[in-house]
Amino acid sequence: MARHGQWALGGLSSSLDKNEENTMPKIITVGTATSEPGTIQYGQWETLGHPTGHVEFLPVIIAQGKEDGPCFWLTAGIHGVEQAGPTVLYRLITQELVDRLRGTIVAIPALNPAGLRTMKREPYHAPEDPNRMWPDGKPAKPPDPDKQPPSSLEKAYTRLFDEIVASAAHVIDYHNAWTGSISFAFRDRVLYHADQEADRHKAEAESLAATQFEMLQAYGHTIITEFPAEKYIDEKLHRSVTAATLFVGKIPSFTVELGTGDMPDPAIVAAAVAGTRNVMRWAGMLDGNLERIEGIKVVDAGFPVRRCGTPRAETACVVLHLVEPGDKVRAGDPVAEVRDIWGRPVGDGLLHSEYDGFVIGRSHGIYYYPGDEVLGMAIRDDAPLIAPYPADYYKD
Ligand SMILES: [Zn+2]
Repeated sequence: MARHGQWALGGLSSSLDKNEENTMPKIITVGTATSEPGTIQYGQWETLGHPTGHVEFLPVIIAQGKEDGPCFWLTAGIHGVEQAGPTVLYRLITQELVDRLRGTIVAIPALNPAGLRTMKREPYHAPEDPNRMWPDGKPAKPPDPDKQPPSSLEKAYTRLFDEIVASAAHVIDYHNAWTGSISFAFRDRVLYHADQEADRHKAEAESLAATQFEMLQAYGHTIITEFPAEKYIDEKLHRSVTAATLFVGKIPSFTVELGTGDMPDPAIVAAAVAGTRNVMRWAGMLDGNLERIEGIKVVDAGFPVRRCGTPRAETACVVLHLVEPGDKVRAGDPVAEVRDIWGRPVGDGLLHSEYDGFVIGRSHGIYYYPGDEVLGMAIRDDAPLIAPYPADYYKD
């Protein structure tokens, strides 16, 4: 069970109540891996069969301290081009960590082995975004003969979700946003079912949101809130790993984005390892002061922010960006030069920010069609952090 010790950056050290009896940690089995106090155990979790007779498995690492404490699930590698997350897990999980650990880490560094082999976001055997096929909390529907049934992978994730919910006190899922983007963590708006028990569901959502925010603060990287509720559902983001564990599993969870994916940045990886240990300190799994998050930009706009792809190109053009990831901008500031293919200015030659906020990253490339997003930005967030599912959510 999670007991949150005192924690503060450079101040109080995290400590469990020393009078509390030390009990042996609970045995946790995932696939062929079974925890053994004081050790790191390795195993396989069978996912699906291929028509060629090969069986896909997910690698499982269970690191368990000698004392009881929370069970923290850490997952990565669901998008094959995003390879910083697996790197974080390989750097994080060491015997030295286990020697100081209270509780258990269950880590899966390759949620999408096919995507990692081919360096593709989607696995070739289930060509959909694997981070949009996790349980959505809707009642099961009878099979529709005119619809493709859930893929073997989606079924496997549903089974894995049940295993996560059975043991996890907290979950972090590691991703990369895009090339050159800053390291940040997503704050989710917690959605709840506005049925006859809406008050209870809302209180539960508020509590989950508060705990998620504490975890995000302990992690210590830039915090950016996800899209407003309707766009979030439209984008199927409620079916990501951590949205499923948060909304359906009721487990405080979040997603982190670690900059460039296909060439992990050692500074971001080190800061994510430190941030994860800080979340473990917050959870009472490690002693000691919070580590300083160094070597990366941590941006605070001074007001709550959410992500937004903006500004958009107004015409087909070449874009020469004028701002860097992490830069603060104000509405009206020029953020890019706009040129034609000969390099001549288009119009007044400038594209301006429509919002106050900061730059998460430049979009890939310099060639843009009308409507293309030129920057990923964090802009002022006015939408509520707790929201009911849209009225038609449970109807389709
Ligand atoms: Zn991703």
